[in-house]
Amino acid sequence: MSGRTILKSRVVLIGPPACGKGTQASLLSAAFSIPHVSTGEILRKERAAESPIGLEADRYAREGHLFPDDLALRVVRQWMDNRTRFIFDGFPRTIGQAIEFDKMLFERSIPLDVVYLLEISDEEVLARMLGRLTCSKCGAVYNTRFHALAMGDACPKCQGSLVRRSDDTREALEHRLAEYKTFTQPVADYYTSKGLLKAIDVEAARDEVFQILYADMKEEAL
Ligand SMILES: [Zn+2]
Repeated sequence: MSGRTILKSRVVLIGPPACGKGTQASLLSAAFSIPHVSTGEILRKERAAESPIGLEADRYAREGHLFPDDLALRVVRQWMDNRTRFIFDGFPRTIGQAIEFDKMLFERSIPLDVVYLLEISDEEVLARMLGRLTCSKCGAVYNTRFHALAMGDACPKCQGSLVRRSDDTREALEHRLAEYKTFTQPVADYYTSKGLLKAIDVEAARDEVFQILYADMKEEAL
């Protein structure tokens, strides 16, 4: 029996910090020509542009708070416009966002095709986050887990000095991880109950993880 290939084109990627969801989302976006959207990325641009929504986001970021659901949803609604295909990375982050996002998609008759939960051990998340080095000159980010570089080395791109962000302490990172779990576990449970969640082990190499996601998005339908 020969099946039809149906491309999953409404996709959400969730997972802990440093699980590589941003990288995978942009690889998949390029491979399938589906727009990749990161609410964090949009908000960074809005903050840089000092737009009204950017200034609002800035206040939360300064106080070290997560962006409220309402703000994230406004950004998404604005971005969605007339689009019907997307790969979201890091959204929805809370159960409130997931429920409202569902309503938005239902109104537009464009239901989600799949939600990938990128899974990785807590130890690996912490090791990756602690291994992160930033160039003090050009802002490029490297990781001692994947690159043969150490703190104080010269940036391969611009020769600037590589430093560790001062807020990347083990305590702060453990807090971020705990926060992720508190907010995102209910999101994963919600999508499981809808039969949309697929857990993918991402301890493997980046290209291997990409091949798994790529094949799944392009799955043959019988
Ligand atoms: Zn540099």
